[in-house]
Amino acid sequence: MTPSPRWYDETLYDDVRQGFVADRVLYEGETGFQKIRIIENSRLGRVLFLDDIVQTTEADEHIYHEMMVHVPLFAHGRARRVLIIGGGDGGILEEVLKHDVEKAVMVELDGGVVDICRTYLPGISNNAFDDPRTELIIGDGARYVAESAGEFDVIISDSTDPIGPAEVLFGETFYGNCRKRLSPGGIMVAQNGVPFFQGDEVTTSYRRLHPLFADVTFYLAPVPTYYGGAMTLAWAALDAGARNRDQAELAARIDAQGLDLRYYNADIHRACFALPEGIRRLMRLTD
Ligand code: SAM
Repeated sequence: MTPSPRWYDETLYDDVRQGFVADRVLYEGETGFQKIRIIENSRLGRVLFLDDIVQTTEADEHIYHEMMVHVPLFAHGRARRVLIIGGGDGGILEEVLKHDVEKAVMVELDGGVVDICRTYLPGISNNAFDDPRTELIIGDGARYVAESAGEFDVIISDSTDPIGPAEVLFGETFYGNCRKRLSPGGIMVAQNGVPFFQGDEVTTSYRRLHPLFADVTFYLAPVPTYYGGAMTLAWAALDAGARNRDQAELAARIDAQGLDLRYYNADIHRACFALPEGIRRLMRLTD
């Protein structure tokens, strides 16, 4: 008798969930911070869950990681030092290192996530952790930006959702300290949820970022396994011009680098900042 499929659900709300069949469970365990599970699914490849929430899958990780990295780095154009907060699977780090950066500092709370992902999801970080330009710090990202004296051209906050240890990464204090860590012309981007279900996160982030940066908005990335439609990525730049680069110059910059990309390109760069009315209405400073 064929065994019945082994389903794992991502329960987002008490009335909405999505499920994945595990052909194999590669890892299940607890770190001091969260539950980690990695399964193998015939359609999505390997899937990372933290506390039963989908973090990344081999099938669509490139969309999210390319959009979180290449939009700010190509807009900046001269990024030498990049700070990554979170990003334990190494996907952001891999994309950052495709650029001619001097240093990529990654501050990840949970060393267990890095270790398990390096073992069971090696294709996502692609040896990025072994790159001599990488400095991996295991610690709280909020504390790092508060206490370190480092200066960065781009800061990328790739955290879990604003609950538990990640909640602090969506607060004014964290954003204010990120601003202090940015060099002139610096850009910060952050994972900001799927607005179809988490619209309040857009409003909250907009209100907290707006007083700190010259240009605050969101851009969209359609990540199939982040249930609910396109994800908003927060954009906060010290230079309002960073988002309005000449299109031909940007395209030439992208072509010149000839990166191995599967989602991001110059047209996507321009289009991703186009926001539907519903999201624009969420970007309000008062009720
Ligand atoms: N791409 C995923 C998403 O959009 O939800 C996030 C992936 S990554 C695995 C999220 C990482 O944020 C986790 O490894 C988690 O340990 C880390 N994290 C959560 N809170 C943190 C904090 N305060 N400082 C640093 N890293 C944190």
